[in-house]
Amino acid sequence: RRAAALARVSGPGATRDGHPIALLANIGGVDDAVAAGAQDVEGVGLFRTEFLYLSASSLPSVDEQTAIYAAVLKPFGDRRVVVRTLDAGADKPLAFADLGEEENPALGRRGLRLCQAMPELIDSQLSALAMAAKETGADVRVMAPMVATAEEAAWFASRVKAAGLPKSGVMIEVPAAALRSRHVLAEVDFGSLGTNDLAQYTMAADRMEGELSDLLDPWQPAVLDVVAAACAGGAEHGKPVGVCGESAGDPLLALVLAGLGVSSLSMAPKKVSAVRLALSLHTLDECQALAEVARAARTAADAREAVRAAASEEL
Ligand code: PEP
Ligand code: MG
Repeated sequence: RRAAALARVSGPGATRDGHPIALLANIGGVDDAVAAGAQDVEGVGLFRTEFLYLSASSLPSVDEQTAIYAAVLKPFGDRRVVVRTLDAGADKPLAFADLGEEENPALGRRGLRLCQAMPELIDSQLSALAMAAKETGADVRVMAPMVATAEEAAWFASRVKAAGLPKSGVMIEVPAAALRSRHVLAEVDFGSLGTNDLAQYTMAADRMEGELSDLLDPWQPAVLDVVAAACAGGAEHGKPVGVCGESAGDPLLALVLAGLGVSSLSMAPKKVSAVRLALSLHTLDECQALAEVARAARTAADAREAVRAAASEEL
């Protein structure tokens, strides 16, 4: 019965009453792009670009970067592709940028912080993306990882504009950016919640530490409160906020996220059809009610169970 239900829905994501929630793919390279491009997805919500830089002994030339980016963009035609600029740091070191060891890589000079220290890095990446966008005619949007403040968002937006790219965004994965999203998102065109890091930083629990998985659960009501704050700040400026962390691929949580106000969900392509089905069974009002149920719960387990009990029995 479930297989039949999954097969019944296809195309753009939407709630039962027709409120669109774009369903996008997370990809990490050319092979992923070719595979995801052939799927029923509305584009890419997170293209992790680290593979191009982490294994390189020197910064790849702009031409080399352009060729790879064009190959990633091509399978998506005119569908959107959201590219995350380099998210390197002491835990994902670059051979050509020795920044030394750090006591706490997750709290160190990573993501946009590293690019601010080495602007030539991000400028070459943005130039290559602009050239690849021109070559392919693709709808490219770039976003920065690990943004904490409005100044950082403004710095990134100015670099993106200088490179001639049309749209800039920021990942919201640091609680400071979520809590101050009305100011952070005022500087850019969109936000994308990285719930993996957002859970890590909200709960002060290392995401690499398997023993802490209960604390890292994206159903933690505190994480949901932080997500709600990020969405409220975006709504003040009419700036779309999506989700590109693993949580977007959980059909029940996807309903809660839609209820909190996100406009897109990006996930491993194999998870898209179950999320599409879940959305198609609920109106936006029902999603909002489910979000309230989740946030009213005392624990992550209670939140999940309460939403499961209140959601459509067809799930
Ligand atoms: C996240 O932090 O949720 C995210 C999507 O990025 P990554 O998992 O690559 O840190
Ligand atoms: Mg992250």
